[in-house]
Amino acid sequence: MRCKNDDAPAVAINTEEISGIVFDTQRFSIHDGHGIRTLIFLKGCPLRCEWCTNPESQTFSPQAGFFAEKCSGCMKCAPACPYGQAFCESGRVEWEKCEACMNCVEACMYEARVTYGKRMTVDEVMEIARRDMVFFEKSGGGVTVGGGEAAAQPAFAREILRRCQEEGIHTAMETCGYAPWESFKSVIQYVDLLLYDIKHMDTIAHKAKTGVDNRLILDNAVKASQMVREMIVRFPLIPDFNDSEENVQRMGMFIKDNMPGVRRVDILRYHSVGESKHARIGREYLFKAENELSDEKVNSLKSILESFGLHVTIGG
Ligand code: SF4
Ligand code: SF4
Repeated sequence: MRCKNDDAPAVAINTEEISGIVFDTQRFSIHDGHGIRTLIFLKGCPLRCEWCTNPESQTFSPQAGFFAEKCSGCMKCAPACPYGQAFCESGRVEWEKCEACMNCVEACMYEARVTYGKRMTVDEVMEIARRDMVFFEKSGGGVTVGGGEAAAQPAFAREILRRCQEEGIHTAMETCGYAPWESFKSVIQYVDLLLYDIKHMDTIAHKAKTGVDNRLILDNAVKASQMVREMIVRFPLIPDFNDSEENVQRMGMFIKDNMPGVRRVDILRYHSVGESKHARIGREYLFKAENELSDEKVNSLKSILESFGLHVTIGG
């Protein structure tokens, strides 16, 4: 179920101070690019992957969330809600009526109600990015902009990346690649390392589980690979979706034939952490898999990709 605040991209452009909606920031990450990194997650994504591990990053505006397990049942939130729907006694929230005013977040003493997303200026983001310069320099790290989908807020993402490069900070961007090329290109021109998701080689299967087909994504992947300094393909391996040998063969062949600059694929194994997160924002977790991904299966798919001359890692 979607909130009423699930609306269009909220990007302020043509103003002196470019700003955007940030979903989260995280320091000292060692997983999303080289070295020690600060991660800036922008809110809003054009895809709706059923297994999404951060569903609260999908909509483009700040939204309210509810942690039923933290709720004491004190009901302080109920009178705070101007719409009268902040029911907590049974853990029930009528999300379809929520206008994201965040009054209940203020009222709750137990952090059972939270806000996902806030507007930040590029200056505010840069202030966070600069805090760990010493670690970036020692580890070869830097800033990684992700999401949601960073390219869905192009002016904001571009300016963060440009300012980082200007200040000597290594830049990486995580992307699903679904953006008009000219806009996408204008963002990735300031990227040192592009972490590019390819989810499925079949257009119909891709659309069935992500909401969009893959043609723009594959086109952009080829163009981006000719433009950026370094690119790693990331392959979220999802049981009963993209784990067939045929799909992995097609992916290996596609990378070898069309993206000669790409030497590495990171397999990201499925985990079900997104399930509880969907509940916190009143959404149903639609993804269901009959089969599990055994180590043996993951390793055999890894071998297929390696047969195309790719260096392949397995992560989660
Ligand atoms: S104020 Fe917080 S703890 Fe109290 S009922 Fe509402 S959500 Fe639960
Ligand atoms: S954010 Fe909370 S107080 Fe505001 S409308 Fe939604 S449920 Fe009611």
